[in-house]
This record gives sequence, C-alpha cells and structure tokens, in this order.
Amino acid sequence: MQIYDAVIVGGGIGGLALGCRLANNRRSVLILEARSGISPSQRGLTLQPNGLEALQKLGLLERTIRIGTRSDIVAWYEIAGGLLANLDYSLLEHPQNYLLTVVPSELEQVLRHEFSRTNGVIHESASFEGFKLCKDHVQVKSRGDGSTAECSTKILVGADGADSRVRTALHVKTQTRECPDHFLFMLVGPVEALRQEARQYLSRGKMAGFFPVPGGTYIFYYLPRGKLNDLKAQGLNSFKNELQKIMPELAGSINNLQSWDDITYAAPKRIKVQSWVGDRVAIIGDAAHALDPSWAQGANMTLQDAISLGDTIEGCFQSDDFSSARLKTYENARRKQTTFIQKQADRSAQLTSTENRFNSWLGKRVLKKTGMNRRLIRIALNASCGLTDHFTIGEQLRFLL
Ligand SMILES: Cc1cc2nc3c(=O)[nH]c(=O)nc-3n(C[C@H](O)[C@H](O)[C@H](O)COP(=O)(O)OP(=O)(O)OC[C@H]3O[C@@H](n4cnc5c(N)ncnc54)[C@H](O)[C@@H]3O)c2cc1C
Repeated sequence: MQIYDAVIVGGGIGGLALGCRLANNRRSVLILEARSGISPSQRGLTLQPNGLEALQKLGLLERTIRIGTRSDIVAWYEIAGGLLANLDYSLLEHPQNYLLTVVPSELEQVLRHEFSRTNGVIHESASFEGFKLCKDHVQVKSRGDGSTAECSTKILVGADGADSRVRTALHVKTQTRECPDHFLFMLVGPVEALRQEARQYLSRGKMAGFFPVPGGTYIFYYLPRGKLNDLKAQGLNSFKNELQKIMPELAGSINNLQSWDDITYAAPKRIKVQSWVGDRVAIIGDAAHALDPSWAQGANMTLQDAISLGDTIEGCFQSDDFSSARLKTYENARRKQTTFIQKQADRSAQLTSTENRFNSWLGKRVLKKTGMNRRLIRIALNASCGLTDHFTIGEQLRFLL
C-alpha cells in the first residue's frame, strides 16, 4: 500500500492550491481527481484581492497575472438606463487592489504545473470511495479504471466540491440549498469598450456581467429559476439579440455562439456544514461553504482555505497531532469570514438578480448611493473582496439611509 503524508480528494483550484502548499514543504502529497484531465472551460473566473494574495503566498501571482486580464473598475449600469456606479478597486488599500479574470482551466494548469514541479502526484479518473480511521493514519479507498485502490495517509482532505463525498463520509450535519439565481456562462470575442473596465447591467428580473479575459470576453447572464426551457424555445438568435440590446458594443463579438452547447448553465448550491474537521480529516472550499456566485468569491475563499489549512497541517506534522481539536485552528481562522461572505452574497443576490419590484428598486438605490461616495465604495469593496469579516451597524445603515 502506498503511504503519503497527505491525500487530497479533488484536483480543482482548492485541492491543487493546498497540494502546492504542502508539496512545497516537502510533504508527499497525492491528489485523487475523478476527471480524466483538464478540458478548456467555457467560462471565466474572477480573482479578487483575497484570492490574489493567496496566490502570491503560493509564489504563483506573476504566472497567474500572465493568463488573466486586469480590471480596475466594475461599472454598473441600469439596462436601457444610465450609469449607476463606478466601483473603483484601486481605492482599496491592498497590494492587489484590482480584479483579474482568468479562464479557470488555465489557472488549474498553472497550479498543476507547480504541483508536479514540487513532486506532487495526481491520480486522474480516480474517484474517492471512503476512508477508515486507524490509530495513527487514515486508509483511503478509491476507484478508477474498474478497480479499487487503497492508500494510507496521515491526513485526508476533501476538496471535492459542493457534493463532497468526503463530507458525507465524515457524517457531519450539512444544509444544502439551491441558490435562487441560476446563470448562463459563455466566452465570446473581445469588446473594445471593456479595455478599461468590466461591466454589470441590471434591471428587474435581469442581470448580466461582461468581464474582459485574454483574447475575449466572459459573459454571465442571470436566469430566474425554471426559465431555461422558455429561453431556449425562443431560439439562440433571440438570446444573442437580447445580449446585444443590453450591451450594444457587443455587436460582432458574439458570432462564436453557434449553438446552446457554447453556453454553460449552472444552478449553484449554498452549503452550510456544522464542522469542517474530524480526526485526521478536513474539508475545504465548496465542500465546506459553497455559496451564491453573486460575489464571485467561491474560488477566492477556496484559495484562502488552502493557505490556512496548509499552515495548520504543517503544525500538525510538527506536533504529531492530527486530532480534530488541532485541525480546528484552520476552521476557527476561516469560519467567520466565510459565514459573513455567504450571508452578504445572498443579500446581494436578493437585490441585484431579482424579479421582486421592491428589492430591485432598493438594489439600484444602494448601488447609486454607493457609487457617489468613495468611503462607501471602499467599505463595500473591502467586504466583497474578502478583506473583512464583518460590517459595523453604522456601515450597514450608511448603505440604506
Ligand atoms: C459558473 C460558475 C462561475 C463562477 N465564478 C466564480 C468567480 O468568478 N470567482 C470565484 O471566486 N468563484 C466563482 N465560482 C465558484 C468557484 O468556481 C468555486 O467556488 C470553486 O471552483 C471551488 O473550488 P473547489 O476546489 O472547492 O471545488 P471544485 O472546483 O468543485 O473542484 C472539486 C474537484 O473535485 C473533483 N471530485 C469531486 N468528487 C470527487 C470524488 N468523489 N473523487 C475524486 N474527485 C472528485 C471534481 O472533479 C473537481 O475537480 C463560480 C462557479 C461557477 C459554477
């Protein structure tokens, strides 16, 4: 039986980032990944100051910058109306005070390259089946190519996404809820108007985002639950016209959308888990706290988790203590911020991607008010960029009054 210092289930952004952190400390690490390789994503991923800082700690910021497009401003417009707010990230007092939008499969390649360079091992097409806790190790069972395999490790980590099987095997109380806002995602050609800024457009029941990526544009389009079939019935051209109506500068850039297969549909989940650790086992990222995508924070928080858990695991090796009490150091460091961001992302979604008349009015009002006040912009962005874990009561009132 192969013996590793750490086994990580899931070779997405979180699992790979944690793998890099541990392998960099000369730990022997195995990642079990169910997919058979990396296929090019049909979407973008926006990295924010907290995620960029985590990548810097991994020594990967410069390489990530090379595969992304930087935006300093997100301009919010009312659909068929005027500018609501220019949210300027350069107002933040943080070394990475900007957004960087990448194609997620390319970020995975950067992380995989680093993981392999530091002698990390990935088993692809290998699905986690279960684990058995022993006195001084964990036995991990996986299945791939029609056969099962077992290995032994000091610590097992579930970075296996919202439907985590490691979490299930850990038997922790979990609340799962489908987010009310569903989305369509796509990559199209470059748009000249997006050179300096990213844009988000909204009106009641509609919301769309346009973010520059290298050589193109990443679009996400809010779709109220249960409306996908209606949209498809109207035909792809009707949808393309709709996008062009929202952002006229898009003309000519969406010719690559030839069929619905060029567009991805996602119905994200929100996950709340009572405990993220057990003896010799921990979970990170979407497995622990998947959230509404409205704050584009899922991957950013996963990267922060990877740094925090990586450092905690290093402490476990030094004290030879992998108990849940020792691993709680990681959960205690991360829990407050993730809970805050989950809650605020839900609130934002209620105001920006909504069919409710009052909420839609309030959302526009809050955006306008924020856009007119540099202090409010800074408070809002500090929160949405993962740089704080609370709003004071005074701050909350300032957005409304
Ligand atoms: C359309 C969309 C747009 C998004 N945009 C943004 C954004 O702009 N910014 C942002 O920060 N976040 C964004 N997110 C959220 C972000 O993608 C996730 O939060 C992030 O990918 C979570 O990373 P993870 O490593 O925890 O899980 P995942 O990325 O879900 O990775 C889990 C991995 O585990 C593997 N796996 C699962 N089960 C098993 C098993 N049994 N055995 C072995 N392997 C297994 C999977 O194949 C997968 O590779 C977006 C999400 C979606 C869906």
